[in-house]
Amino acid sequence: MPRMSLLKDEFFNKMENIGLALTFDDVRLKTGYTEVMPEEVSLESLFSRNIPLKIPIVSAAMDTVTEHELAIEIAKLGGLGIIHKNLTPEEQKNEVARVKYHLNGLIEKPICANENEKIEEILKKREERGYTFHTFPVINSEGKLVGILTENDFDFCNNTELYAKEVMTRQLITAHQGINIQEAYKIMVKEKKKALPLIDKDSNLVGLYVFSDVKRIITGSSKNYNIDTKGQLRVGAAIGVYDDAIARLEKLIKEHIDVVIIDTAHGDSKSVIETLKEIKKFYPELDVVTGNISEPESAERLIKAGADGIKVGQGPGSICTTRIIAGIGCPQVTAVYNCSKICDEYNIPLCADGGLRYSGDIPVAIGTGANSVMMGSMLAGTKEAPGEIVFLEGRQWKSYRGMGSLAAMTTNRGSRERYGVKKELVPEGVEGLVPYKGELKDILFQYVGGLKKGMGYVGAKNINELREKADFLYFSSAGQRESHPHDILITKDPPNYKSEGA
Ligand code: IMP
Repeated sequence: MPRMSLLKDEFFNKMENIGLALTFDDVRLKTGYTEVMPEEVSLESLFSRNIPLKIPIVSAAMDTVTEHELAIEIAKLGGLGIIHKNLTPEEQKNEVARVKYHLNGLIEKPICANENEKIEEILKKREERGYTFHTFPVINSEGKLVGILTENDFDFCNNTELYAKEVMTRQLITAHQGINIQEAYKIMVKEKKKALPLIDKDSNLVGLYVFSDVKRIITGSSKNYNIDTKGQLRVGAAIGVYDDAIARLEKLIKEHIDVVIIDTAHGDSKSVIETLKEIKKFYPELDVVTGNISEPESAERLIKAGADGIKVGQGPGSICTTRIIAGIGCPQVTAVYNCSKICDEYNIPLCADGGLRYSGDIPVAIGTGANSVMMGSMLAGTKEAPGEIVFLEGRQWKSYRGMGSLAAMTTNRGSRERYGVKKELVPEGVEGLVPYKGELKDILFQYVGGLKKGMGYVGAKNINELREKADFLYFSSAGQRESHPHDILITKDPPNYKSEGA
């Protein structure tokens, strides 16, 4: 259904008529009458057709941004992490598993140990498969529950050659299949047990509750988490095209991946469309996001081929040299606006990927037409991003590099595939350092705070209203200069602003 005309349509039409394509610094949102208190706005949105977000922020599928640690934290803050693909399919699957097993309501198929397994074998399995937990129900060869191994059992075991049956706790408190989470919580509190196995009438293990997760759910401290219907954190993963995509997908599906992205530098291509159709044929229930693109015709082609979400951004990234090296692209704000008109017609969410530098760019991207934003550099300096802190010139930094940088392409097939490269390495990205920023939760608090303030100024109480009410002004370079602090020597940067070059 064609959408009704919006305030911003007139602005963008005018710009198009004078041949101007715009990006973040070129525009700001017009303020309007408001009754909206920033703290009361709803930030709920969609990443793709069936994948909701509690905050519209997604972390980039980059090897210096999103592995399990950041994906866990961002999902706990209501967003979504996309695990990068510069990993073997097995490693990527393990990264996804670490997120999915991080917290659970009812675990329907708990990972068990056999009573005749040695402790060292269990620990090795735990390490190899990336399990972050230490609670294993122990079963015998008939599959009956005979004991449980908990963190204490592992901590106090000083001989890892012992068998599980020699170390496990045998005095079990169990409950019957079918008890609900409130009943499970009461039993665990009364019995002071951190795990509650569920058994059927023949003593077969049929489920497990873990106290820390149950408590979070019961006390409501997980109400802002982005969790699936089973109480597990949501997570996405990047895949390539053709055989690699299918090989990865088969493993990722086993870990209940929520959404995959066919992650390429040029989404409007035969390989992406054929891969998308193949995936939708075999896994029609799985949400598949495709990208990246910058033209509305590309959005329409991908949506018609079955895409559940569209990712826009060719060249805006802070580490990206694509537009300079290849001479293509469209400034991000205009690209998002043009593609969003098509996405809105088909009711397909759009993610604006790359180029954001300050929190104020989030309401601009959403006002322009995005349903969510994807960030690389704004998250790469956090504690949870992969990599160690680097000390240089008295300051703390973290590495950040383009997936199309020479280093990433030299060592990783995933990167070469993203840029459609076989042997000839022509980089489309750079590598470098970004300032270390501390914990993700503090950083996102500021980004989300900026978004909420923007919504308050526009008078939008939710994301859809921001997309509908948004109207823009074009800023000259004088306007841009006026917008930043000026005529002052800044002696202390606030937590949400860094002066240029800082
Ligand atoms: P940023 O948030 O501005 O740093 O941009 C991050 C986005 O840049 C990612 O989500 C990718 O879409 C894109 N990207 C990642 N690596 C490269 C590269 O090497 N060249 C071009 N774009 C890249």
